[in-house]
Amino acid sequence: MIHVLKHVESITQHRDRTLLELGVASALFELVKALEVNLYKVSQHGTENYLTRVTHVGDDGVRYVRSEFDGGDVATPLGERPEMVACVNETQIVRVHDTTRDAFVHCFPISVDRRVLGVLEVVCGAPLSSDELDTAEGFLGLYRNYLSLLDCSERDTLTGLLNRKTFDENLGKILMGLSASESNTTADAQTPPRRRQNEDGKHWLAVVDVDHFKRVNDQFGHLYGDEVLLLLARIMQQSFRHQDRLFRFGGEEFVIILRATSEDEVSVALERLRSSVEAYLFPQVGRVTVSVGYTGINSGDTIPDIVGRADDALYVAKESGRNQVSSYERLLASGKVSPREAPNSDIELF
Ligand code: GH3
Ligand code: MG
Ligand code: MG
Repeated sequence: MIHVLKHVESITQHRDRTLLELGVASALFELVKALEVNLYKVSQHGTENYLTRVTHVGDDGVRYVRSEFDGGDVATPLGERPEMVACVNETQIVRVHDTTRDAFVHCFPISVDRRVLGVLEVVCGAPLSSDELDTAEGFLGLYRNYLSLLDCSERDTLTGLLNRKTFDENLGKILMGLSASESNTTADAQTPPRRRQNEDGKHWLAVVDVDHFKRVNDQFGHLYGDEVLLLLARIMQQSFRHQDRLFRFGGEEFVIILRATSEDEVSVALERLRSSVEAYLFPQVGRVTVSVGYTGINSGDTIPDIVGRADDALYVAKESGRNQVSSYERLLASGKVSPREAPNSDIELF
């Protein structure tokens, strides 16, 4: 019992999702003497569900993905793992005997609000006893409750989008990941760093600001204004992919962090958002438009650099008549904005 409580204590001291997941997987690995424990995230692309392993604890060590932006293992279609299909679709604990390695694979659904967000896989040399099943379910319950607490602290109460605090943490993780991969690629002289970064696509940041929102409040009242913000958040959620991150930055300003292989891909996605908002008939209020400024995220950038560039592009979109999408890089190339101070200004030229 004391042994279990020690694990609970170490798990609940984490306010970071990644460390929480690692804590749960490690605790189970030890308590049920598993061969390995894996945590998979379930994500939907189009109509297909995919599995991505984000945490692994085994005799060969521990692996985890620090943030969803790191990519992690390659996503595999859920259909390739029939036992996982049953687990996800029926929200059931499933056990199968893997004859190739004579092991028993137990799959536990991780569901929040009746939606299965992940699967915990516990692989053992023998089927779990009913006590061990209880232990596993107990830890999953703890994990679920803790996840919803973390979720509350990460989200904005009005729109349900991620909040400003989470934005700083997420972008900080991306920048750390970029500088780490930069130092790895520098060591690997065979592969030019730029190409390596582009293989998975680059990160982009867009700032979305509601046009003349003050007028909405003045004309219809604050409550209708709030409803517009809520509906806008829904349109944004429908316009972007599961792995893109949507934040309410404050007031009537939103930020999107997305990954794309080309600038055209980003501009198409943002243009689609702009036109969906323009076409939407908001109850009572009618038409509302948004202006968008975006920029690429580069290694060596700081958070104020990136937000500053996107804001410069947003300013141009507003000045040029609102209801439009502007790219900082394109504006810079055409001389419509002046360059900000170079991020690597400490480099000396000879
Ligand atoms: P622009 O096109 O230049 O962005 O004009 P704007 O009126 O949208 O910009 P401005 O910054 O002048 O006004 C923003 C308004 O957003 C002022 C504030 O009352 C309103 N606002 C900020 N947060 C909230 C909120 O949570 N709810 C509501 N209803 N209004 C908000
Ligand atoms: Mg505004
Ligand atoms: Mg504003």
